[in-house]
Amino acid sequence: MRTFSMLLVLCALTVAHAQQPPPSLPSSRGASYAVRAGRLIDPATGAASTNQVILVQDGFIRDVGPSVTIPSGVEVIDLSGLTVLPGLVDAHNHLALTYKMDPENNVYYLTYVMDSTALRAIQAVSNGMQMLSAGFTVVRDLGNNGNYADTAVGVAVEQGWIPGPTVINSGIIIGGMGGQFTPTPEMAKDHNIVYPEYLDADTHDEIVKAVRQNILFGAKVIKVCVDCKPYPYTVDDLKTFVAEAANAGMKVAGHVQTKTGALRAIEAGFWSLEHSGQMDDEVHKLMAKKGVWRVGTETPFTPYRGSQRAFDATVAGMKNAYSNGVKMAFSTDADYYIPGMTRGEVVINFLLSWKATGIPAKDILKILTTNGYEVCDIASKRGAIKAGFPADFIAVAGNPLDDIDALRTVTFVMKDGLVFKKDGVMTPERFFHAGPVNGWRIR
Ligand SMILES: [Zn+2]
Repeated sequence: MRTFSMLLVLCALTVAHAQQPPPSLPSSRGASYAVRAGRLIDPATGAASTNQVILVQDGFIRDVGPSVTIPSGVEVIDLSGLTVLPGLVDAHNHLALTYKMDPENNVYYLTYVMDSTALRAIQAVSNGMQMLSAGFTVVRDLGNNGNYADTAVGVAVEQGWIPGPTVINSGIIIGGMGGQFTPTPEMAKDHNIVYPEYLDADTHDEIVKAVRQNILFGAKVIKVCVDCKPYPYTVDDLKTFVAEAANAGMKVAGHVQTKTGALRAIEAGFWSLEHSGQMDDEVHKLMAKKGVWRVGTETPFTPYRGSQRAFDATVAGMKNAYSNGVKMAFSTDADYYIPGMTRGEVVINFLLSWKATGIPAKDILKILTTNGYEVCDIASKRGAIKAGFPADFIAVAGNPLDDIDALRTVTFVMKDGLVFKKDGVMTPERFFHAGPVNGWRIR
């Protein structure tokens, strides 16, 4: 009887907790700053205002405006020579996957065999900080993370063990038998090699169970391989994913690599389509009509990746989507190592693709910020620079509303009300905290 009562109390606590805003980081409690912004941008409207003060306390923005009173004793951060704006979002990354030339010849099937989940989780911590240093305060992380390394990294950030971007993680990618692998029969059947990189789900019951497994283990979005195999999911299969995810208040992202797959995912009610190789005018018109997000992962042509032909097709697709009014997000699919570049530098170089489209800088900036919060389904609680929101923002020299390349040099980053980078130098010490004070309910 006593155990039962205790369970009731715990349940009540959990429910109460779920209705509250996210707790601030243990280390940001007690920290107060007044940030002087020479120029402050609201990417949602494209408006800029000058000489603003942002008051930050206990991890949250308390006040913003031209005549905010700065309480005595509060540390003033002078960014009066810079432009302050909300943090950037990469809507498709894989923090816990880094394939590379040596030793695996860029074959990620081998990365998975050679790098343990534990090692990949540590790599993800480092990649997350590299992203944060480049100004990315939110990363939507879509699978290929071993055995839930994405969840572990997201929880570690929320509990305050490490600084990092807010992670919107998918857990394990769910797909028809084999996922994106082409394993040998003995590796697949005798050694179960596909799992945990992919979660096989071929029947209605398996789909329900796979979605529930990911939710149980901390996923915030469901990722489906729609058409990775010659046996793509049917519209009915895909509707099962959508219904089961919706039952837990979650959205479904679909990896699509065929036009048929894209059309089926749109019909089934998917929230976002990942990758854009096969999206034509017909697909874009349907996406615009149904409000489906285009997370196109548009790789630029660089000395280290891509081809002119592929790039021309990519840019033409982006232009078509934009002119059709499709909801677009900035996304990269970055999961590889380029010698001499951080993960953040690889990611921000995708600006090359966006600039090539001729889309105005003001719209590209909105795609990198406001649209990012929306596709992550967090716009009501994180992202904008306004009172009551977590204090996440960055600063750059120049004005990204005129020149989007200003985003290439982020000199200041505040995340959850703490300074992560200042004067171009990472200063993460204040973040580190030797205990998960936010407790077991953060999962
Ligand atoms: Zn991907």
